[in-house]
Amino acid sequence: MSRIWNFSAGPAVLPEEVLREAAEEMLDYRGCGMSVMEMSHRSKMFQEIIDQAEADLRELMGIPSNYKVLFLQGGASQQFAMIPMNLMKNRVADYIVTGQWAKKAWQEAKLFGTANKVASSEDKTFSYIPDCSDLPISPEADYVYICENNTIYGTKFHTLPDTKGKPLVADVSSCFLSEPVDVSRYGIIYGGVQKNIGPAGVVISIIREDLITEDVLDGTPTMLRFKTHADNGSMYNTPPCYGIYICGKVFQWLKRQGGLEAMRARNERKAKLLYDYLDQSSLFHGTVVPQDRSLMNVPFVTGDAALDAEFVKEASAAGLANLKGHRTVGGMRASIYNAMPYEGVQALVRFMERFERAHR
Ligand SMILES: *Cc1c(COP(=O)(O)O)cnc(C)c1O
Repeated sequence: MSRIWNFSAGPAVLPEEVLREAAEEMLDYRGCGMSVMEMSHRSKMFQEIIDQAEADLRELMGIPSNYKVLFLQGGASQQFAMIPMNLMKNRVADYIVTGQWAKKAWQEAKLFGTANKVASSEDKTFSYIPDCSDLPISPEADYVYICENNTIYGTKFHTLPDTKGKPLVADVSSCFLSEPVDVSRYGIIYGGVQKNIGPAGVVISIIREDLITEDVLDGTPTMLRFKTHADNGSMYNTPPCYGIYICGKVFQWLKRQGGLEAMRARNERKAKLLYDYLDQSSLFHGTVVPQDRSLMNVPFVTGDAALDAEFVKEASAAGLANLKGHRTVGGMRASIYNAMPYEGVQALVRFMERFERAHR
């Protein structure tokens, strides 16, 4: 067996310890004679798994008791519709468009009402976060929407927007659990887990209770109502059981690492290594304004598309995989999520140094 350094944006690297534990429990979960994949979601054993996962997530993030934690399906993309269907009582919402995912969410919301683009960074290919300290928030807006970490472009909101009292809805798919958050500042925090937590197929949505109501848009299907899932402990229907089990193991792993403060310190140290190298390199450079850089996704280029392609190819041959930038932007992108060890980033920087010497 040999494992590579996997810089994929998602699905992405998971902690090796978690994969080993899951392998050990694959055929016989704690003496019950079957895999978690094979057990009823109504069994006592699975109930314990989901309850423990929720309890550990609440502890890690310090989730206040007036927030529900939902384990959902449909990917983050389904939330682009589910959020307006559940929250757009006045049929108005304000969107801050800082990348492809925010743009998709904004376009989806337009199917249901007036979705205003109140700020954008599209003028400079989403390479920065706009000033959101005094936005033209609509008085009737039901919520203000952001994508907190822009997976494709490598930007992050380091300061949350002033929503002027409106609930803030944040897609945190690619920065979930990467550092501490103050949950009470949000109406909804949600994300697909396949970037920084677990296997594809689970979406976690943390929702302030007053936003979970029966007053949803006409025609909202049962499965797309937050209330359906909240009232049934995320088990109105069969949940993504195995994915939830792996998420639970990752939560335990995060607790063993020292929680989110410790993860922030580790993630800052990893990102600094790469950004410091990029800032002094005469071949590679980062594409994001320094003050808005993400700790998780680091895009960079040489300025020569053919050389970029050569880099990606040689890196892959050297065991540094999935460094190709998103198909819409080109260049390179290193995703250095929680489960990427410092040694992986060190290996990348050493490889970049060698490549730079060879191509100067
Ligand atoms: C990957 C990603 C999505 C899309 O997730 P799916 O689960 O594939 O729908 C949405 N938002 C962000 C920020 C992402 O990184």
